[in-house]
Amino acid sequence: MDQKRLVVGNWKMNGTLEETLKLITELRHKLPSDQTDVVIAPPFTSLYSAYVVLQETQIQLAGQNMHWENEGAYTGEISGLFLKEIGCAYVIIGHSERRQYFGETDEWINQKILAALTQELTPIFCLGETLSQRQSGKTEEILEGQLKKGLQGIVMNDLKNIVIAYEPVWAIGTGKTAATTEIQEALRFIRNLLAKNYDAPTANAVRLLYGGSVTAEDAREIFQVKEVNGVLVGGGSLVIDKFLKIIEAREG
Ligand code: PEP
Repeated sequence: MDQKRLVVGNWKMNGTLEETLKLITELRHKLPSDQTDVVIAPPFTSLYSAYVVLQETQIQLAGQNMHWENEGAYTGEISGLFLKEIGCAYVIIGHSERRQYFGETDEWINQKILAALTQELTPIFCLGETLSQRQSGKTEEILEGQLKKGLQGIVMNDLKNIVIAYEPVWAIGTGKTAATTEIQEALRFIRNLLAKNYDAPTANAVRLLYGGSVTAEDAREIFQVKEVNGVLVGGGSLVIDKFLKIIEAREG
């Protein structure tokens, strides 16, 4: 699989404008020109200022969420149209914190993915099982359900423009990274399903990420997993020197 590696930093609800610009400026200065695609998702309030600082760099921006409508009476929401206008190239969709705390359903997530594609934003579609689902042997069933519902109506040509992030809920923000065998099994399962529902070349063109407590210490091992095309990093992306170690981790 000849995919350019993708490393995404999800800063969640962390960082005032001042703090975000400080982090971004540090990243910009320290990032070596590299074969890795680097994407940062700061809070909405910092996106445009971040865009101005990051112009003509290899670092791209992502929204952490979006609404599926372009505009309208949806108080508190941000549309894909707006994200695109202020320089985002990506948008995180279906993060487990959105599913858990804000009641996002697979159907909403599907509408958001379709709307993101219309705006030529690359959706980073997150899915993953909870601990109790894993412990009761339901991981594959959950992944299959989330994948099928999330990708409802996505045509073959659009699939390669979607990034899929396997993020086991029990590994997010807990310090418990999934074992490499668990990552390998889940990503292989997802890729095989994509191949079955679309075709193998299209499935192979989709970048699959792992997310869940990735640190500089375990990134190298994670990148050794054949199916991994990149990582989605939360806490580990907020200290730039640590984030750089993840970006620069090399397998082998
Ligand atoms: C995330 O927010 O997607 C994530 C993986 O967080 P953390 O790295 O902190 O587990």
